[in-house]
Amino acid sequence: MALLPILTAPDPRLKKKSKPVETVDAEIVRLMDDMLETMYAAPGIGLAAPQVGVLKRVIVLDIEREDVKTGPLFMANPEIVEASDEDATYEEGCLSVPDHYSDVARPTHVRVRFLDREGKTQEMTCDGLLATCVQHEIDHLDGVLFIDHISSLKRNMILRKLLKARKDAEREAEDDKPAVPKSSKAKAKAAAEAI
Ligand SMILES: [Zn+2]
Repeated sequence: MALLPILTAPDPRLKKKSKPVETVDAEIVRLMDDMLETMYAAPGIGLAAPQVGVLKRVIVLDIEREDVKTGPLFMANPEIVEASDEDATYEEGCLSVPDHYSDVARPTHVRVRFLDREGKTQEMTCDGLLATCVQHEIDHLDGVLFIDHISSLKRNMILRKLLKARKDAEREAEDDKPAVPKSSKAKAKAAAEAI
């Protein structure tokens, strides 16, 4: 297994639509395993293939909450086949939008159909955090980020901050002098889950 670099917004690859997987072969299984390892190391609770620059419809998830413990879930070609009318709001984060969080409303329950790590068709009913996470990851496969669900004012502010942080990091990397200590602000919410 290998750790894969995670792309961050604004990266044009995060806005592309991913292609369906034809068969869950050894290459896809290796991608799933590498993605899971990358997600755990980040750490995060969900990761979609385009976040590691692979435009294929593959996601991995692992939710652990008081009452919900899924263990690792591997999904190729996941699709929502049923969604509740009722919405729930959850404060979302994303490994591709580091250090920013925002409330997003999505259907409370969804039923998802997918190919598992063995290539078998499965269906699963998801609610709570798992429902949010599955919908967030499927969005990635369609080039949609959680910040696309919030106001353009807030989205543009986040994107500007991410660009500035990237430029600052590049400048520090080029500089021979030791890096300037980072403000503690950026890490203040790092403990929250990123999907
Ligand atoms: Zn995400």
